[in-house]
Amino acid sequence: MEDAKNMAEHFLSLEEQSLIVEAIKEAELNTSGEIRLHVEAACDEDPVERAQKVFDKLGMGRTVQRNGVLFYLAYEQHKFAIIGDSGIHEKVTDSFWNEEKEMLLSYFKKSEYCEGLCIAIKLAGTKLKEHFPYQSDDTDELSNEITFGENNND
Ligand code: CA
Ligand code: CA
Repeated sequence: MEDAKNMAEHFLSLEEQSLIVEAIKEAELNTSGEIRLHVEAACDEDPVERAQKVFDKLGMGRTVQRNGVLFYLAYEQHKFAIIGDSGIHEKVTDSFWNEEKEMLLSYFKKSEYCEGLCIAIKLAGTKLKEHFPYQSDDTDELSNEITFGENNND
């Protein structure tokens, strides 16, 4: 785990990581949805399937409104996925995320990972606001910290 984190820190500097955490905080001021980012080097399966496993492992299904969103990125292969919990699926179709995926891809192609992720995360907050507005009694149900890992079926 520590090795994976150290490797990922080469990919996203500490400063970039804090910018992303700030973007998550900002997004969560628009919506009750809870956004997380998981980063790892490689993914040897379909990124959506891998993201689902990470989602479960992180306990992201524990939100009251089932509105957790995971941004998943395997940076060596430029594989990524954005998945939402069942509460979001009840309200929107997969196309809800297409705009974000296309935008992320355009930034990733330029190797502007941090900027692309920050913009996509903030956009997710704006988009989710329509279905899951921020509530005055909001709690931070899921940590805003980025998680790092390896694709070793752990
Ligand atoms: Ca919250
Ligand atoms: Ca949060």
